[in-house]
Amino acid sequence: MSEIIDGKNLAKEIRESLKVEANKLKEKGIIPHLSVIMVGDDDASKVYVRNKSRACEEIGIEFKEYLLPNDTKQEELISLIEKLNKDKNVNGILLQSPIPKPLDIQEAFNTIDPKKDVDGFNPYNVGNLCIGQDGFIPCTPYGIMKMFEKYNIEIDGRKVAIIGRSNIVGKPMAQCMLAKNATVTICHSRTRELKKELKDADIIISAAGKRNMVTEDMVKDGVVIIDVGMNRNDEGKLCGDVDFEKLKEKASYITPVPGGVGPMTIAMLMSNVIKATKEQNNIK
Ligand code: NAD
Repeated sequence: MSEIIDGKNLAKEIRESLKVEANKLKEKGIIPHLSVIMVGDDDASKVYVRNKSRACEEIGIEFKEYLLPNDTKQEELISLIEKLNKDKNVNGILLQSPIPKPLDIQEAFNTIDPKKDVDGFNPYNVGNLCIGQDGFIPCTPYGIMKMFEKYNIEIDGRKVAIIGRSNIVGKPMAQCMLAKNATVTICHSRTRELKKELKDADIIISAAGKRNMVTEDMVKDGVVIIDVGMNRNDEGKLCGDVDFEKLKEKASYITPVPGGVGPMTIAMLMSNVIKATKEQNNIK
């Protein structure tokens, strides 16, 4: 029987402490501000943005949403980011992905001022993470690291298998684990023997976006399982990548979906906005 990692509760604790920090800033006359840009009308993105806006409201972060139409031109997107970069009242800028196909999302990320890049996708922050310097860590891996800290789960010297190599989850996750002295394997759609890689791992972090990707027969007893996936089952309910019911009997720790990684991602975004606000105002 495993211990279920309660991301919902830990995220709440983090938001409570951020509320205290936001209040201290308010006493100094500083209101943290997050601007979010959404291009097009992706339904899932609308839900994520709404959740981010609620979290901002709870903590005392000013939130502004820019809704751009589907046919937005690259120059228009870039010029909005440049405008927000210059605006002294804006502490954090987030571009919600995905954006419509013809647009170049990486160019947009490259344009976000690294000091306001609360998602940590600008190459400056990506580089800082790789070389172990302070910067903004992408919110999902950052939240996962907080879970390991809270539950005192050992990372040093252990074998970690990550499923997925995206720029927003898999790759930064690998860097975070490497920084804590794990031996890291990154698996992806071209990995030939996924089961073999997983069977050997002490810690599995699945971010493939495929339900029932990780099953009981693929893991060893006592494994730690972090499920990043967000999928829908046949009844339309949110589920992760792993067979939670079976694996919770075999793992030492496991995250549920919902109530695991998801709420932590938003809490760490809030944490990054507070960090950005403090740094921009030279507050330690
Ligand atoms: P992505 O589509 O960019 O990447 C998926 C990765 O999975 C790819 O690198 C691909 O190579 C790998 N993959 C796909 N099929 C595979 C297979 N059969 N074997 C091995 N690897 C395989 O997705 P992403 O943006 O990294 O997100 C991954 C999942 O995590 C999605 O379900 C997404 O919704 C979810 N997500 C959740 C949160 C959260 O806060 N909970 C945050 C970000 C992403």
